[in-house]
Amino acid sequence: MNTPSHLVINLALLRRPVSPLMTWPILLGALIPDAAMFVFYGWARWQRLPERVIWNEAYYSQPWQAIFAVGNSIPLGLLGMGLGYSFKRPWLGLLGASMVLHHLADLPLHHDDAHQHFWPVSSIRLISPVSYWDVDHLGRLGATIEVVLVLAAAVYLLPRLNSWVSQGILAATVGLTTVVYGLLMWLPRG
Ligand SMILES: [Zn+2]
Repeated sequence: MNTPSHLVINLALLRRPVSPLMTWPILLGALIPDAAMFVFYGWARWQRLPERVIWNEAYYSQPWQAIFAVGNSIPLGLLGMGLGYSFKRPWLGLLGASMVLHHLADLPLHHDDAHQHFWPVSSIRLISPVSYWDVDHLGRLGATIEVVLVLAAAVYLLPRLNSWVSQGILAATVGLTTVVYGLLMWLPRG
């Protein structure tokens, strides 16, 4: 899934109905699994690698795959949840829960770019037949599922946000995600 989709879906599912809402730990937990990818992309652009090389070669090279494995670890997210519960730190528990939810959402929507979700226990990667972007692997279906989930999460979340600034940010994020996905998936490729 794309990072903005994780932010919206995790917030809808994990945000507490009463104060403290825990918005920031949830957003941070949704972001952490993809954080290394942004660093990677910045590095790759700095190396002046062409887009095709970035995503088809450099992305699959070491040490990047080892670094990505850490952020995408379900055991690490569970550890955060356990520590948060044991030491009565709800923010840490929700941060861990948000990481795990991110991983669970990625599992059925990644084909050959599947993450090593069980690091450090196992380096196994579960290859889903459905990709969230690759049209050669049911990408249109994957992208449609993602957009529908994001729209449903936004419809639930929008009336529950208490400031028009956060409502505006949410509406802009969801609008942009939908338009970009629509263009990428349904325009003829040339
Ligand atoms: Zn992800």
